[in-house]
Amino acid sequence: MSGVKPAFTKEELLEKDRNYVWHHISPHNDEPLIVVSGEGCWVTDIDGKRYFDGMSGLWCVNVGHGREEIAAAAYEQMKTIAYSPLIQSHVPAIQLAEKISSWLEGDYRIFFSNSGSDANEVAFKIARQYYHQKGEGTRHKFISRHRAYHGNSMGALSATGQSQRKLKYEPLVDGFEHVPPPYCYRCPFGKSYSSCNIECAQIYDSIINWEGAESVAGVILEPVITGGGMIVPPPEYLQIVREICDKYGILLIVDEVICGFGRSGEKFGHHNYGVTPDIVTMAKGLTSAYSPLSATAVRAELYESFRGKDGISHFRHVNTFGGNQVSCAVALANLEILERESLVERSAYLGQQLSYRLNLLLDHPNVGDIRFFGSACGIEMVEDQITKEPASADKVLQVVQACKQQGLLIGKNGDTVAGFVNILTLCPPLITSDEEVDFIAAALI
Ligand code: PLP
Repeated sequence: MSGVKPAFTKEELLEKDRNYVWHHISPHNDEPLIVVSGEGCWVTDIDGKRYFDGMSGLWCVNVGHGREEIAAAAYEQMKTIAYSPLIQSHVPAIQLAEKISSWLEGDYRIFFSNSGSDANEVAFKIARQYYHQKGEGTRHKFISRHRAYHGNSMGALSATGQSQRKLKYEPLVDGFEHVPPPYCYRCPFGKSYSSCNIECAQIYDSIINWEGAESVAGVILEPVITGGGMIVPPPEYLQIVREICDKYGILLIVDEVICGFGRSGEKFGHHNYGVTPDIVTMAKGLTSAYSPLSATAVRAELYESFRGKDGISHFRHVNTFGGNQVSCAVALANLEILERESLVERSAYLGQQLSYRLNLLLDHPNVGDIRFFGSACGIEMVEDQITKEPASADKVLQVVQACKQQGLLIGKNGDTVAGFVNILTLCPPLITSDEEVDFIAAALI
């Protein structure tokens, strides 16, 4: 086991954990996994047991663990200066903004924040302010999708389409409407692809009219819904949504927090569908989670309207740590690894290798559907392939635990509103080897 040797016994740590740590989105009833180190695609717990990190942490450690050059970049940057705010500028932010623009393959200005939620909040504020400054101040609403996850802060949670996550935190922010997800396996319109006229995309036209086009500022979506069940839209979907946004002069905000930086098998998930967003939000894979950082990329044309010298036309938003020098240096080192090791291409290959092996699971009576986007995968478990009744929570948990037993960490999510968490998820580091793909398949099949 590489890394730091804990100063306390496992029992002592568990007791301190119970007494002091408030875990994220967990009632903290079970004994937690205490992870102490990571190398490549593997993490090691306090007992020295190794696990394949099948979710790249939380969909984020794209280049894998233990990258010395990222640590070195952070160390060098930390030695250079503790901090200076982005009200001015600094070299790592300049270099990184240029690099992100080149990855986006478009002319974007980059606003740095700390988390995916922050990046989406920034997108909403920029969109609203943009329309104010354009003389279209009535445009304030955003359209999102049921099952989507866009973050935990009040605006990002309002855009989120999982009401279970909002319970007891309402009222949230006004002006967020939701449309049904593009979920072919359980089409919310009761249709089948491709005779469906891509109703799930056409619905945007209807809702914009119902709401009044002059009240709508933006549509926010992920290229595929990841955290809400790996819901992959029909191929035409994003293009149609883009056309509808253009028809009504509405901004298309694409949340690339998970899909970006190679996960989709392209540089960004919207590249898979050939659309150009007005605003792109990103986090996780930007630094492979070695340090917190997010960004909101805004088309240069929109940015121009924030350059007025009247004292109130600039974007009046600041956060202390957004674009922190160390995080920017870490992101640059991370992107260099992604480029040098061709990990975007590797992600597409990895997805193919996984699909060859995991599609065998479709013969299992409890597997209803398997969906891929690049190297991310969702396996929808059912009680019955014909009725598609979602698998019980116990059945899903058994699989997750059996995988863990064999040293494979996977995720699960689903329709938390209906109370079904029946979709297993996999999002392995992009460096996963062919042998490791065999290991994943052997654990799951
Ligand atoms: N957007 C998407 C698609 C996400 O999956 C997440 C987090 O999982 C977020 C936004 C929020 O990111 P963060 O947890 O960094 O605030």
